Amino acid sequence: MSLDKRDYDAVVVGSGPNGLAAAIRLQQAGLSVLVLEARDTIGGGLRSEELTLPGFVHDVCSAIHPLAVASPFFRTLPLSDYGLEYIHPPLEAAHPFDDGTAAVLERSPETTAGRLGADAESYLGLMRPLANDWPAIAGDILAPFHFPEHPLKMARFGLPALSSATLLARRFNTQQARGLWAGMAAHSMQPLSHPLTSAFGLVLMAAGHRDGWPIPRGGSGQIADALAAYFVSLGGRIETNFYVGSLDRLPSCHAVLLDLGPRQVLEIAGQRLSSLYTWQLKRYRYGMGVFKIDWALDGPIPFMAADCGLAGTVHLGNTLEEIAQAEQAAWNGRHPERPFVLLAQQSLFDPTRAPAGKHTAWAYCHVPAGSRIDRTQAIEEQVERFAPGFRERILARHTLDTEAMEAYNPNYVGGDINGGLIDWRQLFTRPALRSSPYRTSAKGIYICSSSTPPGGGVHGMCGYHAAGRALKDIFR
Ligand SMILES: Cc1cc2nc3c(=O)[nH]c(=O)nc-3n(C[C@H](O)[C@H](O)[C@H](O)COP(=O)(O)OP(=O)(O)OC[C@H]3O[C@@H](n4cnc5c(N)ncnc54)[C@H](O)[C@@H]3O)c2cc1C
Repeated sequence: MSLDKRDYDAVVVGSGPNGLAAAIRLQQAGLSVLVLEARDTIGGGLRSEELTLPGFVHDVCSAIHPLAVASPFFRTLPLSDYGLEYIHPPLEAAHPFDDGTAAVLERSPETTAGRLGADAESYLGLMRPLANDWPAIAGDILAPFHFPEHPLKMARFGLPALSSATLLARRFNTQQARGLWAGMAAHSMQPLSHPLTSAFGLVLMAAGHRDGWPIPRGGSGQIADALAAYFVSLGGRIETNFYVGSLDRLPSCHAVLLDLGPRQVLEIAGQRLSSLYTWQLKRYRYGMGVFKIDWALDGPIPFMAADCGLAGTVHLGNTLEEIAQAEQAAWNGRHPERPFVLLAQQSLFDPTRAPAGKHTAWAYCHVPAGSRIDRTQAIEEQVERFAPGFRERILARHTLDTEAMEAYNPNYVGGDINGGLIDWRQLFTRPALRSSPYRTSAKGIYICSSSTPPGGGVHGMCGYHAAGRALKDIFR
């Protein structure tokens, strides 16, 4: 089939990890591709800026990258040739408790289990097979609904993944194992009693055991810069400061891929969409939001548990019961006194992030969608609880509530950083129930953002699969 002459074969709107992944896959296929980005820099959830003081480089959104290093697509790209270097902290994650001890996630399932006392065997029974299977099943997991390439291995993952985190936690007896597990599963941004919340914990732990939870040297923006540089080296073109308010503003092309959520898709492409599809997009559900803080610090965070100082990520929530309560409260529209806090301390392992002797830290907690409540004090109290003296080290802070988050990037509706709720109803049918979730009802218009399978996180697989769909449909 030959196509008539247009300005570009494809235009991608938005330069987040999924937009860039889609653009690269199309450009690799020999097409001419233009990426349009509303802001003055590329990257979406992959940007790093001096948010607090000069010389302190903060990750505005994503910080920790188990999914980027595990991504079946990103792994095929020569990103290290374009300046991307991952740093692996000695420990992937730490989870301190009130008694001054900490559970940790290490690369090795055996050493992780070895520190879980009476739960060592139980942990290994669950995680060792999944860690071994991970390279085979990552492609099946980070994909739309399909018959898996490795059905037996997928079944071994899928059965526990379907359950709620609180149900799966019953296999553990120690505070250590239960707390560590709850912190992982709470990345689901839902009450831990919800089905499928185990899937989040299992994916993050299996990926951590195989490929680690690294940080990019120089900041998360380095991932976007490497993706963009590779795309441009293939002949692709990127324009920043180009807000697309309507598809009518685009150069002529055969396919448009939108790295946008359903709300924005309705705004800019609404008149081209069928009424059934419009109805489906309007029913799309968003989840909780986040309140985020970045700190410039006078020294490292003085955690009581020494292991926390060796971990890139620290989960602050104490016991499973406490984390479950905090997540349930936020889900129910309340602001718990002790929120579950996800914290990263990049400068401990990457000296480019702060002036000599100084440090950065990044943290957020889950809040009700659209919350305008300032959670600074609650988050800092949680850090202080496990690291007495933390507050004295704060030189400056920068905060983003859900409204500021959405203003920064309209994909974060109500502060939801996953592009919409990832529950059983929206796992494969995000953003709508269709033969391919990436196709809209209008020929040649696709959605490639985290509002499509497999959902939030920096892995580029939504963009990769959306581009694959466009290649089959339009370019054969
Ligand atoms: C605070 C926070 C912490 C996070 N932490 C992590 C983490 O540690 N690890 C991880 O893997 N993930 C993390 N995430 C999630 C991750 O950043 C997102 O899932 C991911 O960036 C989604 O990628 P995307 O390409 O779908 O969209 P986005 O990254 O949202 O990119 C969309 C792009 O489109 C642009 N755009 C929007 N509208 C228009 C328009 N009309 N015209 C032109 N351009 C437009 C936006 O400016 C943006 O650049 C975090 C997110 C946040 C906010």
